[in-house]
Amino acid sequence: MPVSAPAFPVTRVSRSRLDAVDFNHLPFGEVWSDHMFSARCSHGKWAEAEILPYGPIRILPSSKALQYSVALFEGFKAHRTPPGDLAVFRPDRNYERMNRTAARLAMPTVPESMFHEALGELLRLDEAWTPGPEQGSLYIRPSYFGTGASLAVDSGTEFQFLLMTCPVGLYFQPGKRLSLTTTRKYVRAFKGGTGAFKPAGNYGSTLVASAEARTAGWDNVIWLDGYEGRWVEECGVMNMFFVIGGVAVTPPLEGTILPGVTRESALVLLDDLGIPCEERRVSVGELVAAADAGTLQEAFGCGTAATIAPVGKLGLEGREIELPPTGDDSVAHRLRSELLGIQTGTIEDRHGWLVTL
Ligand SMILES: *Cc1c(COP(=O)(O)O)cnc(C)c1O
Repeated sequence: MPVSAPAFPVTRVSRSRLDAVDFNHLPFGEVWSDHMFSARCSHGKWAEAEILPYGPIRILPSSKALQYSVALFEGFKAHRTPPGDLAVFRPDRNYERMNRTAARLAMPTVPESMFHEALGELLRLDEAWTPGPEQGSLYIRPSYFGTGASLAVDSGTEFQFLLMTCPVGLYFQPGKRLSLTTTRKYVRAFKGGTGAFKPAGNYGSTLVASAEARTAGWDNVIWLDGYEGRWVEECGVMNMFFVIGGVAVTPPLEGTILPGVTRESALVLLDDLGIPCEERRVSVGELVAAADAGTLQEAFGCGTAATIAPVGKLGLEGREIELPPTGDDSVAHRLRSELLGIQTGTIEDRHGWLVTL
């Protein structure tokens, strides 16, 4: 990352809020670091790049973001490594995905040099907001939306890009396993839709499904395909893996599944660990049959926030399927240790995934 003087003005907070933060109790995404980066794009030209105190932004009520969901986001993490450095995990993958989503929403590309310079500068400024490796990590949230104020049904010519960070705790609680159920009532994504991208609207439109699942006593939903309603796609806002007869299986990216960076990394690490792995379609019927045959060993979700989230109970075809207990030798546990080890610098970064500050 560049270490020269930033190419944009920096306005620092007069007094940091850091002292008031309890790093051992960090509710996800509620505590935001002192500063944020902001830039605007008007008629294809980027300007007004600056770092300023994190706080409210001005946006007109008639903006495209608020009226038509011309808005997207990304999420990735930085960890504190043993030498005390800050290591960002695969920011290039999120940068690329962000621009794929931008193109899908008819928004202009965010310039690569601006993204990386802004990220480096913001992280250097708020580095002290990073929890220790035993406490958690620094979550990085890019946000990009249309600020054009007209009801014309297009993405407009005015946009704002923000980068902000927040310290987050360890999602993983030992022994905690998720319960997930399929839903017949809601579908997350169709081919040709936005399922493979990260527009803000993808989250807004699925929240009711998660809420209803919680009311029924489950942690979240398993998303099935919208045509036959039998192929597993994702769970909540995570990609999904199963371990069936010693083989790790995850559904292939066929246009309705979000290409997770955690999923992509997990596939590489499974290979490294010598765990057989397949990208192929998995049906609810196959899972039920495997559970009955005793070969359904594990299920887990994966995503940046949770890393690897083991599942303890599945709701499939009206049945409640308890998965066998998993120990330190489980695929989920080994994968999580490997991923976290690389992210926190205790295992060699053999794939060149870390960008160190
Ligand atoms: C963001 C997201 C994921 C996880 O992606 P990561 O890059 O691993 O964080 C999975 N599914 C959905 C629907 C998502 O929005």
